[in-house]
Amino acid sequence: MKCPLCGSSSVGKVGVEQYYCWNCFVEYQFQGDETRVYSVEEDGSLMEI
Ligand SMILES: [Zn+2]
Repeated sequence: MKCPLCGSSSVGKVGVEQYYCWNCFVEYQFQGDETRVYSVEEDGSLMEI
């Protein structure tokens, strides 16, 4: 598993089909062929980017 944005392998699994990149501080969700990218806000909520 590598980050689709930066290519780093510093990616941790945080849920089902959910991964977090420790390099760009964003979360990914894989839904079929689609990859959604979220930034994690200070309050812990996710904002799609
Ligand atoms: Zn990354």
